[in-house]
Amino acid sequence: MSVSGKPQPVSLRLSVTDRCDLRCIYCLPPDGATLAAHDDVLRLEEIVEFVGIVQRRFGLTKVHLTGGEPLVRRGIVDLVRMLADAGAPDLAMTTNGLNLREMALPLRQAGLGRINVSLDSLEAETYRTLTRGGDLGRVLDGIAAAGLVGFEPVKFNTVVLRGINDREVVSIARFGMERGCAVRFLELMPIGVAQAGYEDRFVSSAEVRAQMASAFELRALPPVPGASSRNYRAIDADGRQGVVGFISPCTEPFCAGCRRLRLTATGRLLGCLAQAEGPQVRPLLPTRTPEDEERLVEAVEQALRLKRNARRFDGQRLMGRVGG
Ligand code: SAM
Repeated sequence: MSVSGKPQPVSLRLSVTDRCDLRCIYCLPPDGATLAAHDDVLRLEEIVEFVGIVQRRFGLTKVHLTGGEPLVRRGIVDLVRMLADAGAPDLAMTTNGLNLREMALPLRQAGLGRINVSLDSLEAETYRTLTRGGDLGRVLDGIAAAGLVGFEPVKFNTVVLRGINDREVVSIARFGMERGCAVRFLELMPIGVAQAGYEDRFVSSAEVRAQMASAFELRALPPVPGASSRNYRAIDADGRQGVVGFISPCTEPFCAGCRRLRLTATGRLLGCLAQAEGPQVRPLLPTRTPEDEERLVEAVEQALRLKRNARRFDGQRLMGRVGG
């Protein structure tokens, strides 16, 4: 609650599926995760109803679709259209981009506003190794398509891993600059499979920033309230500029004032990525009576109460399941 007694708006991150067509080495086991049964996954109508109730009862600043891989969810374009038609604000998506070449236009036409593409390497072989088989060429085609259909902005997310892609930080930043795309460098989180060899792979944002500062002048941009990224304008010796951000859940957690809630594909509501437990909202949907709706509102309040102020990772879960 705010001091005025009115609930403060929340932002929602919705995992629309636990399936993914990649197996990134820090995210999923080589054979993939055990997937939820089809019947346990929230239906499109249930997702839209949940979002509508949160918007009406709490206020919403943003709806972000993720996964798993959102583009492998059957009906994803319909979901975007249903959410847009229902008035969901600031509709965004994080994707690996593999299917974006075909889907960028339908998604845009359905009402998706912004898109983030995970791009951990610009070297085809490194990308293939890191994602266990991903085709970088397809992702680059998808990024080009997203730019052409007018996603504004397209952003890139890069998890920096020592000995794998840490030497590419400057080239990925330049790649973003040339396309007018912001690049955000993420710290590796010790969740799920990323716990193995974590200390060897982890690179702090401070180190990535220092690497960036050797190639660019970095000017801090004003912080955006509730945002996870600390952003800078990067300017090179020839005056070329772009925006780079650093997402630092481990060394500079952004918990204060966070109003982000995550809904897993099977309907568990989590107050934090670092948290394993939260109320299940699936049994409360669809709401048929005012009492049902009150139970749903109580579940949202419970998830908000469970939020922590300092990150301790309950590491035994898979990111692909929680929804990154
Ligand atoms: N499949 C989509 C994609 O690749 O963007 C969306 C889901 S993915 C889980 C969302 C984001 O989480 C990606 O940018 C991925 O790099 C990031 N991620 C996954 N595991 C992570 C970890 N252990 N630490 C930091 N980021 C992670």
